[in-house]
Amino acid sequence: MDNFERQLLLREIPQVNYMLENNDVKKISEKFGRKIVVEKIRIVIEEFRKSPITMTRKEIEQFIIKRLYEILEAEENMGLNKVINATGIVLHTNLGRAPLPKIAIDNIIKVAEGYSNLEYDLSKGTRGSRYSHIEPILKKITGAEAAMVVNNNAAAVFLSLNTLAMDKEVIISRGEQVEIGGSFRIPDIIARSSAKMIEVGTTNKTRISDYSLAITEETAVLLKVHTSNYKITGFTEEVNLDALCRLGKENNIIVMEDLGSGSIYDLSNIGLTYEPTVGESIKNGADLVTFSGDKLLGGPQAGIIVGKKDLIDKIKKNPLTRMLRCDKLTLAALSSVLNLYYDMDDLPKKVPVIKMMSLKGEELTVLAEKLKDIITKNLEGSLELQIIDDLDEVGGGSLPGVILDGKAVSIKSSRFNANELQERLRKAKTPIICRIKQDKVALNIRTIEEKDFETIALELKKIAGE
Ligand SMILES: *Cc1c(COP(=O)(O)O)cnc(C)c1O
Repeated sequence: MDNFERQLLLREIPQVNYMLENNDVKKISEKFGRKIVVEKIRIVIEEFRKSPITMTRKEIEQFIIKRLYEILEAEENMGLNKVINATGIVLHTNLGRAPLPKIAIDNIIKVAEGYSNLEYDLSKGTRGSRYSHIEPILKKITGAEAAMVVNNNAAAVFLSLNTLAMDKEVIISRGEQVEIGGSFRIPDIIARSSAKMIEVGTTNKTRISDYSLAITEETAVLLKVHTSNYKITGFTEEVNLDALCRLGKENNIIVMEDLGSGSIYDLSNIGLTYEPTVGESIKNGADLVTFSGDKLLGGPQAGIIVGKKDLIDKIKKNPLTRMLRCDKLTLAALSSVLNLYYDMDDLPKKVPVIKMMSLKGEELTVLAEKLKDIITKNLEGSLELQIIDDLDEVGGGSLPGVILDGKAVSIKSSRFNANELQERLRKAKTPIICRIKQDKVALNIRTIEEKDFETIALELKKIAGE
């Protein structure tokens, strides 16, 4: 385009005020607010000025409206948003770990909407404790004397050690120096808690004598860390909690276990490998046990500490507790989830994480068929669907090496290769996160909620119609 043509074209660009009178723009303003719409129209017009494309005045208007909408929608999607987890990894840390039970969500809404008895004792009409909402139920379902909760399990470990082992020694096996992810390592947490770490044993073998030889006047805690995101196999030996607790008692030293994933429910009930429960650690004599709220428990992000009353009382009084405390919405969700544990037989129906882990062959096939049918009903041609076997995982640093037999709807597109289709699904309005299996996109059914089937079908229809 020569300079003359360019000048003519630029003259056709409508004014901001003119655009604001357009009916479509008015609708957009209602949704996003007039102020931001004015700002974005200016930006779009500036874009067009810099690299104009030959079009009529009417076309320029349409172009501005389309771009305006695109920009506003993209910005709206930039915050924290829902995605659909089609990876088959139940506790996906990057996707927010555990989806909450309905009853917990309802309670979050109730507590968020208005005031609550967060720190108010309704029976006495006086100041209460925010732990009162979770402590009685935690005591009941774990058998512990006392309980409290903080922001996450890393904070629980840190706070416990800071309270009980400041300037003292903590003995830990070399085989249990876990990295949790995001470069967050147990040795670093111990160091920051102002405790001194004393490593004993080797990566593959640690014996009770290694611990007992390391005990000094300065020893405050024997720490056992559940190696929840890896497994050392072969020529190995570790000290079980039982033996460690006996040694602790003989020497009057606190035994603490960081269980990490910490299930309260015995997962062998739903056919998974047996995993020690929080209750068992308490029964075996651990003085303190810490675990996450959003791993196998199936609740919100939180760090739960259960154990001896005198120790928990000390932890509650540590000034750092105030900094690490969790908020009322977390407590609203957590107390609802914990209350479900009164009746453990019902857990696979009520707690999404446990339900997803419990799904097996035929149930998965029925769900996969259903999703496949809904997708097919919406489409003409261009996608080829098939139900395949695939392997799912519990994930989230829980149950290392536990693979679940899963089912997936695999999708082959005649227009996009697997990587392109995966990217388009990821960039959809409701992003769908999935893996590729044998050069096809696979939607693993275990982690997809039924209420999202229609959304998936809709997004695939949009992609196929591009
Ligand atoms: C996951 C995990 C943690 C960290 O828990 P967050 O709740 O993510 O802070 C600590 N220790 C172990 C053994 C874990 O598995």
